[in-house]
Amino acid sequence: ARELGLEFSKKGEVKFEDVGGMEAVKENIRMKIIYPIEKPELFKAYGKKAGGGVLMYGPPGCGKTLLAKATAGEIESNFLSVGLHQVLDMYIGQSEQKLHQIFELARKYAPTVLFFDEVDALAADRRDMRQSAGRGLINQLLAEMDGANGENEGVLILGATNAPWHLDSAFLRPGRFDRLLFVPPPDLEARKEVVRIHAREKPVVNLEEDVLAKKTDGFSGADLRAVFDQAVESTMEEAMKKGKVIPVTGKMLAKTAKQVKPSTRKW
Ligand code: ATP
Repeated sequence: ARELGLEFSKKGEVKFEDVGGMEAVKENIRMKIIYPIEKPELFKAYGKKAGGGVLMYGPPGCGKTLLAKATAGEIESNFLSVGLHQVLDMYIGQSEQKLHQIFELARKYAPTVLFFDEVDALAADRRDMRQSAGRGLINQLLAEMDGANGENEGVLILGATNAPWHLDSAFLRPGRFDRLLFVPPPDLEARKEVVRIHAREKPVVNLEEDVLAKKTDGFSGADLRAVFDQAVESTMEEAMKKGKVIPVTGKMLAKTAKQVKPSTRKW
């Protein structure tokens, strides 16, 4: 994996409970990916075959990558995350080979959740790509996703994009990214959950997640994280000077939130 510039994540590091909100998306992933692995007999009884991938789309910073990692955590599988730009930036012909090696690695260490981020990269310059490395890479990815003779058994493919409408429709056919899931910006309830998750393992008192959630309409999970990071950082500075732990309060978080710009408004 190292040679490919990739790294397997530690097993079971993140679980669904570490991802706030997204109940509908989680349920879809359970049905499509988790149950077929955990209860294959049940699946077969209904004449269904496991396989196919899930493509998540939505505004940046709302937890697509985190959820992919948590999916691997739920089934205690390996997790391999690939930014498609990483693959695309290679010389002509090399990117196809690298993609093949990535799949081979995922197959070897199956069960593996193989996560492709920036799937839109494949569609970015479609006109140029038809003649150049891009088309080859698209075809390679399609072929690898189809797999020969069940070689993709135990390879669970997830993808993420901010712009699904640019994607080649060939990717959306059965056995490929045959389930498209919208990962929305967190609503009020989801923001409460995300806030509670971010507060874990930090010296926070009087969190008042209801208040903070109300004041952060339009914030992504990543924006909320930035609020915590900033509040923790300034509190820590003070704590260092005074030589003792000073807790972060809900009030400080609310104040910090005013300085952070919500990034999902336009969605
Ligand atoms: P991008 O489209 O930019 O790749 P993304 O949707 O994949 O974004 P992530 O990388 O998963 O977003 O989120 C970035 C960070 O924001 C996470 O590591 C996590 O700390 C926080 N975060 C985002 N969404 C959530 C959530 N629903 N629950 C908890 N934390 C979240």
